Amino acid sequence: MQINLAKSAGFCFGVKRALDIAKKSARKGNKVVMLGDIVHNEKVVRKITLSGIKKISRLTPATGKTLLIRAHGEPLKVFSLAKQLKLKIIDATCPMVKEIHKIVRKMERAGYKIIVIGDSKHDEVRGIAGQVKEKALVIENLGAIHPNVLKKIKKACVVVQSTQNLDNALEIVSILKEYIPNLNFFNTICRPTQIKQAEIKNMPMRNDCMIIIGSKNSANTKRLYEISRRLNKKSWWVNSKKEIRRSWLKDAKSVGLTAGASTPQETIAEIISYLSSLKLS
Ligand code: SF4
Repeated sequence: MQINLAKSAGFCFGVKRALDIAKKSARKGNKVVMLGDIVHNEKVVRKITLSGIKKISRLTPATGKTLLIRAHGEPLKVFSLAKQLKLKIIDATCPMVKEIHKIVRKMERAGYKIIVIGDSKHDEVRGIAGQVKEKALVIENLGAIHPNVLKKIKKACVVVQSTQNLDNALEIVSILKEYIPNLNFFNTICRPTQIKQAEIKNMPMRNDCMIIIGSKNSANTKRLYEISRRLNKKSWWVNSKKEIRRSWLKDAKSVGLTAGASTPQETIAEIISYLSSLKLS
C-alpha cells in the first residue's frame, strides 16, 4: 500500500513559532502562565505543562509573573488586565492573526461594523472580536445569518477566522452582500491553511482512502476531515495509531495522510510507521 503524506501535514508556522517562544521562556526559568491550552492537542499540551508552563483559566493578582499569549491571540482587555496586574507579557500571537487584529481595529475607526466569519467559541475569534469597541457580529454558518440584523448595517468589514474553509466563507460573503450596501471583505484565511485546504481538495480523489490526523478538539483538523469526507467517503479522523482499524485499509492500494496545524510530527511519524508495518490481506 502506498502512503502519500500531504506536504503541509502538521504544525503550521504560527504554532511552531508559539511553541518555540513558550519553550524558550520556560527554559529561562520564568514562572510562566497561559490562558488555556497552547494548541488544541493533548500531547503538545502535556509537554508544555511538563516544561513548567502552567495553564490558568483567568487572570488574578496571584497569577504569577509572566503571561504567555498563545498563537490564537487574546482580546485587548486581557492585555490591559495583565498590565494592571504588572505581569510581563510574552506575546506569541501568530503574526497572521495579528494582521487580522490590525484590520478590524483600523476598519472600526473608519466607521465599519466588524463581522467575523468563524466559530464564536473559538479563542481566535474571541480574540479578534475583542479588538474592537462595539460588539462584533460573529457568523458561524449560513444558518446563522439573520436578515433583520443585516439590514440595519450600512458599512461592514468582514474578516474570516484564519482556519476557516474558504468556500464556506465566500458563500456567506455573497449572502451578506445582498443586505449590506458597503461591504469590505478581507480574506484572512492564512496561507498555511490555504495550502492545507488546496491539498485536501486533491488528495481524496487520488487515494483509495484518507486518514486525517489530529485531536478531536482541533477545529482545523475537523475542517480537513469534512472536506476529505465530502470527496471520499473512505476518510477517517484519528488522533493516534490505536484508533486505526485494519478493515478501513482492506483492498486499499493507496492511503492519503494529512494532519491539522496542531498535530505534532511524532504522531504523524508513528502513524506512518504503523501503516508501513501492516501486512494487509
Ligand atoms: S493556522 Fe494560520 S493563523 Fe493560525 S497559527 Fe497557524 S499560521 Fe497562524
